Amino acid sequence: KKTLRLILGDQLNAKHSWFSEKNENVVYFMAEMKQETNYVKHHIQKVVAFFLSMRNFSESLQKDGHQVIYYNLDDEKNQQDLVANLKQIIKEENIEAFEYQLPDEFRLDKQLRDFCEEIELETKSVDTEHFYTQRKDVAKFFEGKKEMTMEYFYRDMRKKHEIMMLDAKKPEGGQWNFDKSNRKKWTGKPEIPPHKNFKKNVSEIIELLQKENIETIGRIEANNFSWPTSREECLEVLDYFCKKLLVHFGDYEDAMHTDEKFLFHSRLSFAMNTKMLSPKEIIDTTLDYYYEHKDEIDISQVEGFVRQILGWREFMRGIYWKEMPEYKQLNALGNTNKLPDFYWTGKTKMNCMSHAINQSLDEAHAHHIQRLMVTGNFALLTMVDPDQVDEWYLGVYIDAIEWVELTNTRGMSQFADGGIVATKPYVSSGSYINKMSNYCKSCHYSVSKKEGEKACPFNNLYWNFLYKNQEKFKNNQRMGMMMNLLKKMNKDTLNNHIQRSEEIIKNPDAF
Ligand code: FAD
Ligand code: SF4
Repeated sequence: KKTLRLILGDQLNAKHSWFSEKNENVVYFMAEMKQETNYVKHHIQKVVAFFLSMRNFSESLQKDGHQVIYYNLDDEKNQQDLVANLKQIIKEENIEAFEYQLPDEFRLDKQLRDFCEEIELETKSVDTEHFYTQRKDVAKFFEGKKEMTMEYFYRDMRKKHEIMMLDAKKPEGGQWNFDKSNRKKWTGKPEIPPHKNFKKNVSEIIELLQKENIETIGRIEANNFSWPTSREECLEVLDYFCKKLLVHFGDYEDAMHTDEKFLFHSRLSFAMNTKMLSPKEIIDTTLDYYYEHKDEIDISQVEGFVRQILGWREFMRGIYWKEMPEYKQLNALGNTNKLPDFYWTGKTKMNCMSHAINQSLDEAHAHHIQRLMVTGNFALLTMVDPDQVDEWYLGVYIDAIEWVELTNTRGMSQFADGGIVATKPYVSSGSYINKMSNYCKSCHYSVSKKEGEKACPFNNLYWNFLYKNQEKFKNNQRMGMMMNLLKKMNKDTLNNHIQRSEEIIKNPDAF
């Protein structure tokens, strides 16, 4: 039977069993489409990285002897819509069967399910063969449990996949989690190796986007494109991570610095989220390197990395498939404020925000703590509408695909899911940011001040947030200590926090 197989832009898994044999009756289809460039305003580097990676993937399939139909964005035949393109090809190529890999996004999953119901061909969906877990595994694991604690899921995954285990029950190093040792501030040492930059010239794709009037956000240097866009380049990034960065990964996982954007982070999220690399091959390669260099690398560095991928990444995907589509509408705290304009320009006097935002606009990347405790923290403290927060995160980051963006943003960062992902809101005053970074040293505001024009805005906003949400948090045990401090706070002090917060929230772009 003549079969059409669809490959989506984030399904670039060269190791998929589909490709293990060539079949002249199978045609693969890939397309750059406005449906995908326009569902949210993406960072220009994100669109460039996706298109380049898709093109490389298609070329390597063709080199291996597979038949591929590839639509460039400006291809005359391109209908710019997935279903319209599929229908056209089915007709043109006399297709008798249609197959697709299960999408990770609800939106595409629905579109393809509806399409399959509509057409009169034989249809089949297959696994992407990428994740450790299936869509519903996390839901099954937590069935009947009151809380979904990531840590228990992570331990189960370690056991199930025999990762860093001494025997069936005992974790290597005698403990499951070395999170407590992952909290060092970086103060200039140890030296951070220069980050891997492929310095590609991408002017052709930039011109294509301009010609097709694709609206994007963020900045790009046409001849200095740093991201990996082929499997070979992704493997180079992984190798670089193991050899140069792993040794201090855990220690400085939460650190931030004005001179160093990436510190010891792997920057592998794009490679993984497009499936050019699998989580298993990243974990296996990292562990192999660690076991060969055990005298140089401490277990805590490695465990922290494994936990992010084996634990958090799979957990977030499971929550997405457990909770969607309702999850996308959740707004447990009823937040409705507008996202400040400076999220799109980087123009703010708050040094931490300026660094985290400008870095996001320059690089399409910020690391976890910048996303969570700087930009996410500020959006939550100023009670911004989670739809607007999602729109920003989904657009700005190179690795932002809804299944992992939404759960991290709406869930972990904005507490809009009312505690499904996180047991308490990730909010803090300026002191946390000061503890983990050097941002405050060169800031217009003073992190130690709580009153007056120079007071760090986070200091006022934090108490105002707790005050405004006290009813909602009164039964949250993990908030108990802070709520008690709030109760005991001097009235004038509290009023000052509230008043200044109202000024900030009314006109955040003035701060
Ligand atoms: P590293 O620090 O080197 O970590 C290694 C890998 O662990 C990452 O590549 C990633 O695959 C995985 N990982 C780490 N933390 C998480 C997490 N919380 N959830 C899922 N995987 C994780 N990650 C995305 O991939 N896409 C997103 O759209 C995204 N949006 C986020 C939004 C917010 C508000 C927050 C707080 C976090 C978000 N994250 C997202 C998680 C995390 O910030 C990024 O995965 C990480 O910064 C990517 O950079 P890295 O590859 O250098 O990560
Ligand atoms: Fe950010 Fe406040 Fe520190 Fe300035 S003083 S960098 S606003 S935490």
